Amino acid sequence: MTKGLVVIDMLNDFVHGTLKTQESLSTVIPARNVLEAFRKKGLPIFFTNDAHYKEDPEMKIWGSHAMKGSWGAQIIEELKPLESEFVIEKHAYSAFYGTNLDQILRARGVTELFLIGLDADICVRHTAADALYRNYAITVVEDAVAARIDKNWKDYFIRVYGANIVKSDEINKVI
Ligand SMILES: [Zn+2]
Repeated sequence: MTKGLVVIDMLNDFVHGTLKTQESLSTVIPARNVLEAFRKKGLPIFFTNDAHYKEDPEMKIWGSHAMKGSWGAQIIEELKPLESEFVIEKHAYSAFYGTNLDQILRARGVTELFLIGLDADICVRHTAADALYRNYAITVVEDAVAARIDKNWKDYFIRVYGANIVKSDEINKVI
């Protein structure tokens, strides 16, 4: 199994701006550690980012956030991607919906996704559903994600997506 890291919506608006929470801020250091571990092993890294148009359906629900081209839609400074890493814009919760993520994962032989980012129960969850449908194995790094509504997300991921749950300090044992 080839492992790939999918970093979801670690953007200024989610961590420092309009959608920030205490929990979202707490994911930064664990996410940074996971990112470094994947870089050290030379495993592929995919940043998937909201880059909203004002017509996107979820604007009605969340209001303006991570608008394409804005500061809020930029990846946080602490996780700045390298030239060699993929940056994919999305317009819905799932990183697969309307993007070429599946294609670029398959082209690199990735079969197991490690998911980190925001929010565990919204964009990470919808991405996990789409990953399951496409037959990827799913691992979530629990301290590198934060839930906004459903604090019981972990049980849901295990039971519904067959996900593995690990902690960031165990990452070197599992990649
Ligand atoms: Zn959004």
